[in-house]
Amino acid sequence: MTMRDAANDLDERRLVNAVSAAVSSVKKRLAGTVRDNAVWDDAYAAARSGNADWIKDNWGAVSTDYPLYDGVVVLAPDGRQVAAYLKGKPIDAAALFGPELVRRSLVASKRENVRTLLDLHQINQGIVVMATLGIRPTNDPDIDKAHYTLTFFKTLTSTYIDGISEEFQIRALRIQPEPDPKQSWRLITNYQGEPLGYFVWPKSDPGTAVYNTALPKLQALGSLLFVIVVIVVFSFRIALKKESMLARQAIHDATHDHLTGLHNRAGMLAAISRAPTEAILHLIDLDGFKGVNDVWGHAAGDRLLRAVADTLRMTTPKALAIGRFGGDEFALLHAGEHDPSGIGNAIVRALGQPFLIDAHHVEIGASIGYASVVKSKDALETVHRADLALYCAKDAGRGQVQSYTAELDEQRKSLFVLEDKLRAAIDRDEIGVVFQPLVCTLTGRTRGVEALARWSPRTGPVSPAVFIPLAEKSGLIERLSMKVLEAALTALAKLPKLDLSVNISPMQLANPRFVFEIETALEKHGVAAGRLILEVTEGALISHPERACRSMTALRAKGVRFAMDDFGSGHASIGTLRQFAFDKVKIDRSLIASDEHAVVRATIDLANALGIPVTAEGIETTEQAAFAREAGCELLQGYLLGRPMSFDQLLAHMAGPEQQALWA
Ligand code: C2E
Ligand code: MG
Ligand code: MG
Repeated sequence: MTMRDAANDLDERRLVNAVSAAVSSVKKRLAGTVRDNAVWDDAYAAARSGNADWIKDNWGAVSTDYPLYDGVVVLAPDGRQVAAYLKGKPIDAAALFGPELVRRSLVASKRENVRTLLDLHQINQGIVVMATLGIRPTNDPDIDKAHYTLTFFKTLTSTYIDGISEEFQIRALRIQPEPDPKQSWRLITNYQGEPLGYFVWPKSDPGTAVYNTALPKLQALGSLLFVIVVIVVFSFRIALKKESMLARQAIHDATHDHLTGLHNRAGMLAAISRAPTEAILHLIDLDGFKGVNDVWGHAAGDRLLRAVADTLRMTTPKALAIGRFGGDEFALLHAGEHDPSGIGNAIVRALGQPFLIDAHHVEIGASIGYASVVKSKDALETVHRADLALYCAKDAGRGQVQSYTAELDEQRKSLFVLEDKLRAAIDRDEIGVVFQPLVCTLTGRTRGVEALARWSPRTGPVSPAVFIPLAEKSGLIERLSMKVLEAALTALAKLPKLDLSVNISPMQLANPRFVFEIETALEKHGVAAGRLILEVTEGALISHPERACRSMTALRAKGVRFAMDDFGSGHASIGTLRQFAFDKVKIDRSLIASDEHAVVRATIDLANALGIPVTAEGIETTEQAAFAREAGCELLQGYLLGRPMSFDQLLAHMAGPEQQALWA
């Protein structure tokens, strides 16, 4: 639009200039004609002599249809009319032009005035351009004091204006008494500046024309641009949306468990951090999940985990967050207004129901520990506390719900302290070994000994029931057991007739280096492999059966024997004995101490029937000894036959007579 207005303005100025140029061209032309006719000896003579015929022939007749002028006036120096014609007809010039004509002529008549006077004038016929000059001879202009004057005039008729219009390229130029606001115009004045009329011509507005031609294209272009912008913005928004969706997906993936769709550990920790102060965290550990995985395969295990997740969602619809911490451990966060132990028990009940997985009824259970969210510390502290409670719940047996208490924390802390002490004790060789005799029921002689670890720091002895599980939890058990084995082998090398029983923990059997370590130790101390009996509890066989079997087979090939320890206290069955081809079985103290004689007898009979000799543990009374012997046990072990003792005490014990006396 600025361009349009600028173009219009430019054109307007050009036309105004053209009109001015046209007017001055008309004036100049007329001035030239007057000069040619006034400065002329014949004209001078004719005017002076008052030769009206000459004037009529040369000027009056010419005005009839001469393009350069259509009127002529000749005045005497005193202003008297000598002759006047308009279009060839005589006229009264004073009447037509008024006194002004005479006044102008008097100016022009002055001898010294050699310039043509030009003016515009309004007469009845319209506006006329007039040019006046004194009539004088060509070579002697100062003959007279004043001149006769010659005035030519030309009426600006519409035909004449049309000619100008064409000559100066001003379309439809005309003269009007008033301007037209919708058209272009230029004021016409006389030499005194009085308005006579207006040149008027239509606005051509080339800018507007260009603008109007270009506008639809510009609009189309604008629309196109708009469409492009809309498309760009739209696709940008789609891309942005996609991007943010991907980002949201990534965050979701990072905080959720792939398998169950529940939160993962990271997601759960974040939820705990956001949780209100009174919120409670339950940690749920499945009992017997490993068995399902081992027996039915991982696919079934995965389905079971998904089923458990669904059960948790259904049981606790108001939970703030439900998560899986990996493996078979689940977590549940809920606002504190509910009864936490009630929720725990409801979950235990729900997970105690059999699950239908691949057409199998699978029964598992759950142990639960819970703790209040600790706002002052980070989320891990809450998890630690619930974990501690869970540990405690699992220790108490299956299907328990345990709350975190400050005492548990104390225990945990003192356990940390104890663990450090135990590590130092192992490093400094402060773990001692005692030996407990294994006595033959036939001869009453000590056939072998069981090496048992002892730890007596300055603060007082710590029970193996405490430090062995602690060593197992903290990964110290392998080094501890090897120290016991080394010490026992050193001692037993001096008593070549005795078998040596050593306890090994589940983790050791699973270690691929175990076989090599045992062989190296036997070689180093020069003890025959046939004298070594390794006592294994069922834990090893449950957690890594294949690896345990591999180690056992390799060692058995060297002559090492294996005894199933604490038989009857857990789940190990006669089947387990056969599967792993145990050489011996030790019946647990609890079974011997009970009065379920028939069960004990049947157990011993079964083992014997499989060709596996039986040792009875925890024999404290002569009655127990007599029963075990009569029931078919090969070996007896217990306080009655000898408490765990130092090597020196063992030497004395072996030399003493009391063992034979028992059978006497
Ligand atoms: P275990 O292998 O069943 O060892 C027998 C436990 O019964 C010993 O307890 C022994 O002192 C105790 N005992 C023996 N006769 C009697 C009796 O007549 N009455 C009673 N009430 N108890 C009797 P201890 O020494 O406290 O060891 C506990 C458990 O610690 C052992 O059970 C064994 O599983 C583990 N253990 C001990 N030393 C080691 C070791 O060096 N390595 C590993 N891995 N485990 C060890
Ligand atoms: Mg043992
Ligand atoms: Mg035992």
